[in-house]
Amino acid sequence: LNVETPLVWLAGLLAIACLTLLWAWRSERERARRRPAEARETARALAGERAARAATEARAHAAAEVAGEAILFTGADLRVQDANRVAAGLFPGALAGHSIIEITRHPELDALAAEALRGEDPPERQVVLGDRVYRARAARVAGDAPGVALALLDITELRRLGRARRDMVANIAHELRTPIASIRLLVDTLAGGALDDRPLAGSLLDKVAVEIDALQQLADEMFDLAQLESGQALIRLVPVDAAELLADAAARLAPQAARKQLQLGVPPAPGPRVLADPEQTRRVLVNLLHNAVKHTPAGGTITLAAQDEPEWVVLSVADSGPGIAPEDQPRIFERFYRADRARAGEGSGLGLAIARHIVQAHGGRIWVESVYGRGATFRFTLPRADGG
Ligand code: ADP
Repeated sequence: LNVETPLVWLAGLLAIACLTLLWAWRSERERARRRPAEARETARALAGERAARAATEARAHAAAEVAGEAILFTGADLRVQDANRVAAGLFPGALAGHSIIEITRHPELDALAAEALRGEDPPERQVVLGDRVYRARAARVAGDAPGVALALLDITELRRLGRARRDMVANIAHELRTPIASIRLLVDTLAGGALDDRPLAGSLLDKVAVEIDALQQLADEMFDLAQLESGQALIRLVPVDAAELLADAAARLAPQAARKQLQLGVPPAPGPRVLADPEQTRRVLVNLLHNAVKHTPAGGTITLAAQDEPEWVVLSVADSGPGIAPEDQPRIFERFYRADRARAGEGSGLGLAIARHIVQAHGGRIWVESVYGRGATFRFTLPRADGG
């Protein structure tokens, strides 16, 4: 027993040591096996983070490029570090490193950026750069490298449309006022005793009817114009003889022309064939002819023509009237524009605006040539039926 006991102890201890070593070796081997996987995992996480950051940057860049606004990015010194394409187009020349005031030459934009940098929430401002109006907004770029994003949106067109709409409403109100005032006066006259005088009452009622017709025409023209401007008017193109269109319009205006002893010259049929909506084209021609008859003094001449050109047929209405002053020529196609204000009440000023819309819906153009005092020639183009 006394010889064997230490041996047994020794053997036990040895066995424990072996087992411990074996365990340590195995766990080290396991750790070594796992180490590359962990490293790979960390590398993958880092790459993922980098990709996410790159995607955010790419999105921010794309957002700046797709924006209709000019965007300038500055550092905390309010010097430009980056700009989108619209900004590069708006401010030609080098932008990076230059201050906002150097680039825009507008102290208000500098003040706006400074407010945003201080963390204030500056209200947007309207600024004029050259001949355009911009809405300017600025926001602080937060983070380790603070700065400002300054955005400029061109609102010139928006403001013009707003003004056009207000003008339109004012014009309509103005156009309505004259016939309504006339009708009021006529009705008052009738109520004040003229009703008992049969012949007088009859002539006053005729005048009421004329004013109501004018109102009806105004309402019709405004409706047509609204349809044409919204693109809802259907234009059905068919091949037609241009000379026939001219003859048809001339026939409609012949009685008025005869009353003023005006000579109406119409080209012989057949003429060149055009691709047009006959009804709408007739409206353009009747309108131009009506103006010619209205403005040409008695005994004058009105000449209609259709001229064949390589791609287009040019239709024209020429008169020997007073013509149109050079400053009015570009404006007479605007709605409600009348060159001769003294003759207000003789038309709504919508006729040529409607004519222009119809011609443009055919892909053509309309213009006037006139030497003031020596007549006016209105021309418009229509596509040739055989495509030229
Ligand atoms: P209106 O209803 O007043 O005729 P239009 O749009 O047809 O409206 O014409 C606009 C303006 O253009 C007219 O008010 C007139 O001053 C001028 N105008 C049009 N045609 C002629 C013409 N043949 N000769 C002289 N002035 C013309």
